[in-house]
Amino acid sequence: MMENSTPSYPPTDRTQVRRRAMRGVYDKAQVHAILDEGFLCHIGFVIDGQPYVIPTAYARSGEEVYIHGAPASRVMGVAHRELDMCLTVTLMDALVVARSAFHTSINYRSVVVLGRARQLTDLEEKRKALRLFTNHLIPGRWEEAKQPTDQELKATGVLALPLDEVSAKVRTGPPIDDEEDYALPIWGGVVPVIQTFGKPVPDERVLAGLTAPNSR
Ligand SMILES: Cc1cc2nc3c(=O)[nH]c(=O)nc-3n(C[C@H](O)[C@H](O)[C@H](O)COP(=O)(O)OP(=O)(O)OC[C@H]3O[C@@H](n4cnc5c(N)ncnc54)[C@H](O)[C@@H]3O)c2cc1C
Repeated sequence: MMENSTPSYPPTDRTQVRRRAMRGVYDKAQVHAILDEGFLCHIGFVIDGQPYVIPTAYARSGEEVYIHGAPASRVMGVAHRELDMCLTVTLMDALVVARSAFHTSINYRSVVVLGRARQLTDLEEKRKALRLFTNHLIPGRWEEAKQPTDQELKATGVLALPLDEVSAKVRTGPPIDDEEDYALPIWGGVVPVIQTFGKPVPDERVLAGLTAPNSR
């Protein structure tokens, strides 16, 4: 796949970051890094005038993002209904604690992808997508877990959204207070957000003698 044939996504009228435009990022490598760090996205679409924004998991493969689910779910219906969709990923990096409430903020990295998804029908392509999906969430788990049957693959909807119309936005650094406020006896700075996984907790039916696997 020609993943990096051009180094950035050309901004369009729809993906041009307008407010604080200097925080807009179109560089493919940075967009990919944000997508690969996140696990959860929100899918926005409109059906009969009603907007829906549905949270779900995702994984990137080259210049496509996969989502999966029950074919009967509303979000999985966007492909055969040929609906426009918007996929958004948000990573929260820090609380930005300004001296003034007005400048209190968040350090973040986010990606917005606009477009139409294609529905995967080929079982082998679906299998590859689901392997990628599983290993994105829990690296190495696909190889440890029982493999899906063809029946299970047929019963799983998988959509691929192309990374064509894409923007990222990134805020980093300390608060930006008004100059006169730096003289106030009020603390300012950032509080990093650190996400971490806890110790694995076995369920009640784990066979005797089994320990938690190497994945994750
Ligand atoms: C965790 C978090 C907290 C935020 N808090 C605030 C807040 O409190 N107040 C506030 O005004 N803004 C906040 N933002 C920024 C917000 O997401 C928008 O960027 C903001 O509303 C300005 O949008 P706009 O008018 O420039 O662009 P819009 O006209 O809304 O959007 C134009 C295009 O710019 C791109 N774009 C806009 N925002 C983003 C983004 N965040 N990531 C990727 N692409 C984007 C999209 O392609 C979009 O179609 C926050 C963002 C994050 C991730």
